[in-house]
Amino acid sequence: MAEITLKGASMTYPNGTKALTDVDLTVRDHEFMVLLGPSGCGKSTLLRLVAGLEKPTAGEVLFDGQVVNELEPLKRNVAMVFQSFALYPHLNVYKNMAFPLKSMKLKPEEIQRRVEEAAKILGIEHVLNRRPRVLSGGQRQRVALGRAMVREPVVFLLDEPLSNLDVKMRLELRDQIVALHKRLGTTFLYVTHDQAEAMQLGDRLAIMDTGRVVQIGSPQEIYDYPNSLYVADFVGAPKMNFFASLLRTDGQNWSVRLLGREFPLPAERIDADAAGFSAGMRVIVGVRPEDFQPSQREDAYTAAVGQVMPMGATLHVEAYIGNQRFLVVLNNHTPICEGDALRLEVDPRTVHLFAAEGGQNLLLPPRKGGKA
Ligand code: ADP
Repeated sequence: MAEITLKGASMTYPNGTKALTDVDLTVRDHEFMVLLGPSGCGKSTLLRLVAGLEKPTAGEVLFDGQVVNELEPLKRNVAMVFQSFALYPHLNVYKNMAFPLKSMKLKPEEIQRRVEEAAKILGIEHVLNRRPRVLSGGQRQRVALGRAMVREPVVFLLDEPLSNLDVKMRLELRDQIVALHKRLGTTFLYVTHDQAEAMQLGDRLAIMDTGRVVQIGSPQEIYDYPNSLYVADFVGAPKMNFFASLLRTDGQNWSVRLLGREFPLPAERIDADAAGFSAGMRVIVGVRPEDFQPSQREDAYTAAVGQVMPMGATLHVEAYIGNQRFLVVLNNHTPICEGDALRLEVDPRTVHLFAAEGGQNLLLPPRKGGKA
């Protein structure tokens, strides 16, 4: 078990590609940390720095407070699981899993104990004699996980391990990975570009954008308070709605125009000086589709309903006010059809506010334990 820290870590590949810039990140002992970001933002490179497959061109990688920049991969006792299962096709499952232990020169009884225990935890005892090619994708990935587990590493590094699997298998293995982490209690660092996967798996997420870590927090913290337009656009499904607007003030309170109406901003979340507020400043108001509520209020918005998409537990409803199109998530029992008029309200405490220039979140973080 280990705490992993990157301090000012940068990585420029020999061809000049700057893959990481000044990354500060601590993965706590026992923690399940997910690196989330679009393809090419540097997630795999960060994992490779931790594994020791690459050396940072600046900064440090530390395990439990000790700098390991010069420590070779084998001595770091990390296990990596990749998207491609990378099993040996000519060896059966047992031998595939035992392989790393043989090179560690463990006693045969110890090897057998570890392989059988891992196989039991992963539910693959019945395929130990089979070759990888006759296994399903899910089984192969379990074998790859098992091969990583038997080494009893101090940290698991998982690089998009589920992305080659079909949807059903992916969901099943997600649950298994959560259970595996709970059971092993080892530090996990997991890479994905899939925000739903990240939200389910991570104790905390580190959101990445072009080589930088731009926000770190629990899935709930990031969902409640994305610190930039970039993060807001990336986390949450369906996506947050964005509305361009201008800041207004009566000298005391701040508001925006939202969907043709004056809309108050929550005073307790505003530090106007710190946020650089000025009347007329261009802003982007963010409202999550699930934060539009059906309303009987007299001052409710009236939207025209476009397409209604049943999603099982919920309905995704396309709504229009004037020429603004946005998405609303409603309970699946809501009686609603295309062409209906839909009355909606938005609790001011649930809106997000970003600078049109720069994209930073302009509100103060919500207090813990509530939306406001
Ligand atoms: P991600 O895992 O988020 O998709 P990567 O860490 O694989 O991102 O890549 C980050 C950037 O570094 C990309 O621009 C990629 O093309 C580049 N890159 C990755 N590996 C190498 C390499 N070995 N040599 C040169 N550039 C690389």
